[in-house]
Amino acid sequence: MENCLFCKIARGEIPSRKVYEDDLVFAFHDINPARPMHLLVVPKRHIVSLQTVTAGDEPVLGRMLAVSRRLAEENGSLEGFRVIINNGRIGGQEVPHLHAHVVGGTEPVGPMLKRN
Ligand code: AMP
Ligand code: ZN
Repeated sequence: MENCLFCKIARGEIPSRKVYEDDLVFAFHDINPARPMHLLVVPKRHIVSLQTVTAGDEPVLGRMLAVSRRLAEENGSLEGFRVIINNGRIGGQEVPHLHAHVVGGTEPVGPMLKRN
């Protein structure tokens, strides 16, 4: 995808603080961290969101979660972490290339959602 921000980061056209890469996914520090540890785990292939995934995407979806655990531990979130995936307008997704936020640190990240 020519103009997709995370595809550009995947191609190295936009710099990132990369922490991980394999055949299916890569990960880097969020530019505007919400917690002391805030990483983004991203498929290398352009997938818009969970709204567009198919059965063929299951390997990459599984990899995103398995890598999240490994990266959380490697980046100092030893007692737990949270994985957030925003999808589409209702989900508050800003970058239309699927990504998992992995947030944590040494203090609890806080309530899941503020109740309306
Ligand atoms: P979302 O709202 O779920 O689409 O999240 C998009 C995330 O991408 C936000 O947390 C942004 O801070 C982050 N972000 C935007 N641009 C960059 C960038 N160039 N490098 C790293 N993270 C970014
Ligand atoms: Zn993309």
